[in-house]
Formats: sequence, structure tokens, C-alpha cells
Amino acid sequence: MEKQKDGILYIVATPIGNLEDITLRAIRILKEVDLIAAEDTRHTLKLLNHLEISKPMISYHRHNEEVKTDVLIEKLLEGQDIALVSDAGTPGICDPGEEIIKQCIEKDIKIIPIPGACAMVNALIASGISTKEFNFLGFLPLNKKTRKEKLEEIKNSTKTIILYEAPHKLKNTLSDLSSIVENRKMVLARELTKIHEEYIRGTIQEIIDKAEGLKGELVLIIEGNEKINKKDGFEKLSLEEHYKLYENQGFEKKEIIKKIAKDRGLSKNEVYQNFI
Ligand code: SAM
Repeated sequence: MEKQKDGILYIVATPIGNLEDITLRAIRILKEVDLIAAEDTRHTLKLLNHLEISKPMISYHRHNEEVKTDVLIEKLLEGQDIALVSDAGTPGICDPGEEIIKQCIEKDIKIIPIPGACAMVNALIASGISTKEFNFLGFLPLNKKTRKEKLEEIKNSTKTIILYEAPHKLKNTLSDLSSIVENRKMVLARELTKIHEEYIRGTIQEIIDKAEGLKGELVLIIEGNEKINKKDGFEKLSLEEHYKLYENQGFEKKEIIKKIAKDRGLSKNEVYQNFI
């Protein structure tokens, strides 16, 4: 007997505030699928009601991702089409999704992303800061050690940095960033697509002054480290900073030493000696 056709997993982006920000295709897919897997079914119900769509839902969030992935895979293998949505924006971007997508790929189940709103993309394009190369770091980790590593990465990044942050953690994050980013340009994009949408632009100190008591959803955009961007700026870095810069770009020790030697007009031996 021929194998029953598998279902399709649609990864559907939903609005990040303004309910008009959903595509015609996303609406059609939500109407057509057999089941909607939602991060918070009550939250998604509001969207479905607004769109006049009635559809069975199943919860799929961080805390049940593992178990529910198995359930959803079973349904897909039975031939059901499923739409995966998160509370806001694009699933998988700081939201559940990764696990089921990996499993679908392993089981050869078709995945179709349905593009739409994503807070970091909108914050970036409206920031006025370079969009050529960027590094999306999501939320800064709370663990002291990994947070320090991320802050170090931000310090040495020549690329634009994008961070998500919750309003009650903003003060702490800005204070951690203050010693790292010096005079680099920053933009705080707040309440994107909503009534109180605003962009606070300035240096870290100016942002700290303006951000006191800010509420709502936030994205932080930080300009890349210009000091490092300038070719002749390597001398301004300590050897350690210079080393970290290349380490963060994924180079191995041997290559890093070679690159530093070239940048600084030193021999590899001189670089080694200065490290000891
Ligand atoms: N999947 C979402 C996306 O595509 O952007 C992100 C989900 S993540 C759990 C939530 C974070 O995204 C918020 O803490 C905030 O940093 C950012 N965010 C979501 N909606 C936003 C909005 N309307 N304005 C500014 N930031 C927003």
C-alpha cells in the first residue's frame, strides 16, 4: 500500500502589535490547516476571533516543547497540516519553533515559512544604523559568566548589534552596556507597530537619561565598533581585545596570531612574546 502523504508544517508569522500586520497568505493558511499549534492558545484565539477563523488549537510553548513536538510530528505523519504560531511575530525568533522544525527535517516532513512581522527586522530598518551586517543576540543571558561573554562580544563587534529586552530589565542592561559601548550610536525601538511606537536615538548616556521608567516592548540597536572598523585602528586595541575580536569571528589561535601580526606590522614571534 502507498504511504499516506505527510502533512505540511507552516511556520506562520503573526502581528507584533498592530493586527493589520498579517499577510493574506497567512490568513488563508490559518483557515486551511487542520490544526494550529500556538504558544498561548488564549492569546492566539483573540487573533483568530479578529480574523473570524475557527480552528482547533494545541498549545506549544517552551515548557512543553519536547512532549508536544512528538504529538505534532505524529499528526503531521498522519497527514494533518499544521500552522505553528507564536504570541507575536515570527516563530523561532526568541520563540518556540526550533525543536519541531529540526524534527520535521529529520523525518522529511515539508516545512513552509509564511513571512511576516518580526520586531528585530523592523527595529533595525528604522534605526538608521547600518543594516549591511548585523548580529542578533536575542535577550542577553542572565547567567553572570555568559552575560559577560556576550557583553565582550558586543564590545568587539564591528557589526550592528540587535538585542531584545524586557522593560523591567532595561535599566540593568543599559547600565551593563554603558562601560562597553562608549560613544557608539544606539537606538531604542519601542512599541513597534503600536500607538506609542517610538525611537529613542543617541549615545548610551543619552538613552539612559531618556529611558527612565519606560514601559512596553523594546528592541535595542547598537552601532558596530567603529574603532575596530577603521583599518588603522588596531593600535587602539589592546592585544587582548585584538585577539578577542578575531576569536569572536571564529578564527583559530594560529590564524589569529598571523592576522594580528599582519594588522600591527609585527612578526608572529613578537605577537607570541607579547602574549606571554
Ligand atoms: N518572535 C518575536 C519576533 O518575531 O520579533 C519575538 C518574541 S520575543 C519572546 C519578545 C520580544 O520581542 C520582546 O521582549 C521585545 O524585545 C521584542 N518585541 C516583540 N514585539 C515588539 C514590539 N511591538 N515592539 C518592540 N519590541 C518588540
